[in-house]
Amino acid sequence: MFSKRVVNVGNLAIGGHNRVFVQSMLNRPSEDVKANLIQAKELEEAGCEIIRVSIPNEESVATLFALKNNFSCPIVADIHFDYKMAVESVYAGADKIRINPGNIGNKEHLGLIVAACSEKKIPIRIGVNSGSIPAYILKTMGRTPDGLVAAVQDYVRLLNNLDFDNIIISVKSSDVIETIKAYTLLAGHCDHPLHLGVTEAGTFDVGVIKSAIGIGALLANNIGDTIRVSLTEDPVKEIEVALNVLKSLGLRKGLDIISCPTCGRTKINIKNIVDNLRQALDKYGLLDANLKIAVMGCVVNGPGEAKEADFGIAGGNGEGVIFKDGKVIKKVQEEHMVDELVDLIILMQTGRVKQ
Ligand code: SF4
Repeated sequence: MFSKRVVNVGNLAIGGHNRVFVQSMLNRPSEDVKANLIQAKELEEAGCEIIRVSIPNEESVATLFALKNNFSCPIVADIHFDYKMAVESVYAGADKIRINPGNIGNKEHLGLIVAACSEKKIPIRIGVNSGSIPAYILKTMGRTPDGLVAAVQDYVRLLNNLDFDNIIISVKSSDVIETIKAYTLLAGHCDHPLHLGVTEAGTFDVGVIKSAIGIGALLANNIGDTIRVSLTEDPVKEIEVALNVLKSLGLRKGLDIISCPTCGRTKINIKNIVDNLRQALDKYGLLDANLKIAVMGCVVNGPGEAKEADFGIAGGNGEGVIFKDGKVIKKVQEEHMVDELVDLIILMQTGRVKQ
């Protein structure tokens, strides 16, 4: 969406004014074709738009091949150290190769990867992380944002010297501030699409926060074209978080349930109501509806505080109100609040009453 240049990855155009795409990575054993196909299906259903798979050996190329035959979304081969795996992945149908040219061997090997990618017209993502800055740069710049950017710029030059510029770049750090600084610096120096992420962000509790801050700050500054939230978790969770980051920044449409933090005035169980509402909306296929719905704890402040919501409910003592665009339209018993709200949403969205 934000870089000046557009790079095609499978059926997606990345960069320019295109939207920001969500990526995740399979974490089943690379040789286990069946397990990877099952996980890829889960990711696709969760909303993953680009699937990356690591290719450490010959057996895993079969996994890549099977993924390509079963999914229409782009499949990215992640290669470390072995140029042959990169070349084989290209001919097995990979839509993009992710390498760190610093660990792929000599220039001749890099040249073979570039020749294969040129022939098949697929891009290379140059991915340098804070842990993989080459020694000659570490010596002068250390593990810094400048070091990350200098390393990646050297690798871009290497590929450019091989007459290849079909490139996407990432400069992830496990430090949030370094990540933000490195990408910001890089965005000022190149027009290639950028893949964003905070690497090794950790388990769900801290990883979500680090990723939301790092990726969110960059996207809010119009930097970034694809994102990956890296969590020590089921990758399906990465997609949920990534989509929530994009929705929070207005970069994706979809259901947004807002709810008040509760206070001493609250007489209803807001959390249960939100859970019940989400379940009810799911039942009627409305989880992707482009709606903002508010669940507020009191009638006094709720409708006013949430007037930007399309619909809402505010609870009282045993009863509450349903409101639309900040205006109260109906008083309801607490136990019927969710049902009545969902009835109204279905009526307004489809013109029909609930079946
Ligand atoms: S909406 Fe009402 S209950 Fe919720 S935090 Fe605000 S004042 Fe408290």
